[in-house]
Amino acid sequence: MTDRLYYTDATLLRFDAHVRALDDTRLQVVLDRSAFYPTSGGQPHDTGTLADIPVVNVTESGDDVVHHLAAPLPLAVGDAVSGLVHEARRRDHMQQHSGQHLLSAVLEDVFGWPTVSVHLGTDGCSLDVEADHISTESLREAERIANVHVLENRPVTIGFEDAATVRGLRKPSERDGLLRIVTIEGLDINACGGTHVARTGEIGAILLRRTERTRGTMRVEFRCGLRAVARARHDMELLLETAGHLSAGAEDVPSLVQALADDRRALEKVNAQLTEQLVAHEARALHASTQPDARGRRVIVAARTDVPVKTLQGLAQQVVACGGAVYLATSTEPPAVLLAASEDAGLDCGTTLRTALQAVGGRGGGTPRLAQGSAPTADAVLACRDRLLATLIGD
Ligand SMILES: [Zn+2]
Repeated sequence: MTDRLYYTDATLLRFDAHVRALDDTRLQVVLDRSAFYPTSGGQPHDTGTLADIPVVNVTESGDDVVHHLAAPLPLAVGDAVSGLVHEARRRDHMQQHSGQHLLSAVLEDVFGWPTVSVHLGTDGCSLDVEADHISTESLREAERIANVHVLENRPVTIGFEDAATVRGLRKPSERDGLLRIVTIEGLDINACGGTHVARTGEIGAILLRRTERTRGTMRVEFRCGLRAVARARHDMELLLETAGHLSAGAEDVPSLVQALADDRRALEKVNAQLTEQLVAHEARALHASTQPDARGRRVIVAARTDVPVKTLQGLAQQVVACGGAVYLATSTEPPAVLLAASEDAGLDCGTTLRTALQAVGGRGGGTPRLAQGSAPTADAVLACRDRLLATLIGD
């Protein structure tokens, strides 16, 4: 069992200990005592050094704390060793974790939303609360109240009590025996093994960013302390960058973006109308410039390498709508064929195209008026086109 020094003093960073166990690689080390916090209870592990070797991960194994090193430890079991926990990361975790306890207390006591799970990540933190909906106003008010409690600089104390006799826990503990109790004076009593600040003032700013609906709960994303400040700065820079693109002030961004979205919708509508008119015009021109054959049918052949034939459907339908017309289009990228015919052209496009494509190893079909399909290669497309033209002429 490792004596966990952070249990009673979260500010202790430098410590002396003895090696109790080493694995074969000497990369995993168990000490008799340690200030390193192992990943547990939703809080990420500390980093630092053991005998000046970087500690890259810290885990729990039963009652032991296992230090994972970047290089083998040149010591034997029983040897003395010095450890150092990285201060900035430890302080950051203390701010997030104590901030979470405080925030959970506010969300439950003021709004009636108990916390059901917590995630303290290396970037963002979140907690899931039992709530159907959280309005922007509620989020703003929860953030204000939480920050007032920070300013009150309430003591955060650590105690140990027996699970059988402890009173006032926000959430009953599933553990037996001696519990570590973290108390924010007048606000919260919680069984918790994490590292915490000594007074709420040390949490610094509490920033609530956004909410998200998750399976039956609401997730509240938050950040505390320097992380809150860094994130608020980042958010502000995003807003200013967006405002810069709009040549506007930050306050005008929402209405300008809304106006741009409205404009785009209107332009898309106009664009669709103009495209339709253009296609109709092109179809009439194609129809008019093609001489009818002996049967009075205008056979219009389009070989396109630049667009897939399916984008020519609209044009094909417009051309044959002019009457007495067959429209045949091929494309090589991807290899495909489209065939359309007016009702008075006397041609069943679906059957005709399917037969021609099958002959070249392709596949396709459609209705008597419009059909399309694909061929295995560009050469197969050309062979299919020649077959169709022969059919049309011989028809
Ligand atoms: Zn906790």
